[in-house]
Amino acid sequence: MKDKKRIAVIGSTGSIGTQALEVIKEHSECFETEVLVAHSNADLLIKQALELNPNAVVIGDESKYAQVKEALIPHDIKVFAGAKAVEQIVEMETIDLVLASIVGYAGLASTINAIKHKKQIALANKETMVVAGELVTKLALDNAVNIYPVDSEHSAIFQCLAGEWENKVEKIYLTASGGPFRGKDKSFLETVKKEQALKHPNWVMGSKITIDSASLMNKGLEVIEAKWLFNLEVNQIDVIVHPQSIVHSLVQFEDGSMKAQMGLPDMKLPIQYAMAYPERLKNNFPRFNFLNYPNLTFEKADMEAFPNLGLAFEAIKKGGNMPCVLNAANEIVVQAFLEDKIGFLEMSSVIEKTLSKVAFIKSPGYSQYIDSDREARILATELI
Ligand code: NDP
Repeated sequence: MKDKKRIAVIGSTGSIGTQALEVIKEHSECFETEVLVAHSNADLLIKQALELNPNAVVIGDESKYAQVKEALIPHDIKVFAGAKAVEQIVEMETIDLVLASIVGYAGLASTINAIKHKKQIALANKETMVVAGELVTKLALDNAVNIYPVDSEHSAIFQCLAGEWENKVEKIYLTASGGPFRGKDKSFLETVKKEQALKHPNWVMGSKITIDSASLMNKGLEVIEAKWLFNLEVNQIDVIVHPQSIVHSLVQFEDGSMKAQMGLPDMKLPIQYAMAYPERLKNNFPRFNFLNYPNLTFEKADMEAFPNLGLAFEAIKKGGNMPCVLNAANEIVVQAFLEDKIGFLEMSSVIEKTLSKVAFIKSPGYSQYIDSDREARILATELI
């Protein structure tokens, strides 16, 4: 790699953010930390900044500004605070690539602004594509910005497509681990508590995506993300449960040939691929051994026990503002579930009712996405 890529890690204190910083440190010959952004974890942000010496940091929660400033100003690191600063920091001229790893709708504004300022994007924040995929992909096209997927399934599809850009895709298969409740029926799911839902069999992730994985909403969000990232029709996207999480996803081309990307589950690999593309960087991550996995298995997703996946398919088939509404209602119910305010299956019924109550908008603009998000949050909160 010739010049070091200067990276802004937006959401540096989260699961993806901290792993991205490990990748940056392991490949300091390729990457440099230009900006770090966090929301509330001031202690970790300070520690990261002292270690990586970025040009600037932003803490979203303004009440933590004084603490961060006091710690970093003597080290000549610029410090900003507040939601507007999170959005604006990506404009810095010295940034080459923005790693969008805030969780949820909160990540939308900074990613859109980064694209407007022609920054290449490594996208972990799938909610950006779910809420406003049509708008975001058009903006990226207009500004000649590449969006490199970080989500392991989408990274897998992207890796399978490398060198095949001219060849038509017949179908893609997104693999799903099935989460901690694979094979369970509705009567079991009615009783589950957050402690059980937070135990993912194969991945250690932030709490929101872990609950989404248990309810299969994560796979629903990924279907929508894939549609926009790879410019597919919904009926070209299928979901297949693969409990071992070794095959990260597959592409089927028009001649029937299928390509899969495989490896041990480790998010550092897709993070590294997105940041280093088109290069593959040598690393020491543990390697896959076939003999440890004599059986790789595949099964149908159970949309009856896990209605969220079906709701996501319905939302994207209808299109317009419906995926945005789905996402907003989901963020509200996941938070309520984490606060023990509703049961596991009630999450789906609140989302379904919210989808039926918000007025459909066929081709929303940015402000209509914001309105739809707000309306859906209010409705879902009332329904809880
Ligand atoms: P985490 O909850 O672990 O981290 C979220 C990060 O976002 C934290 O740094 C948090 O800051 C920051 N943040 C939250 N809200 C704001 C805000 N309003 N302004 C600024 N920063 C904010 O989430 P994950 O890392 O698990 O997930 C991040 C994204 O990546 C999600 O969209 C998820 O779906 C996606 N993803 C995650 C995977 C994983 O393995 N974790 C895999 C594939 C995709 P703070 O901690 O300081 O409050």
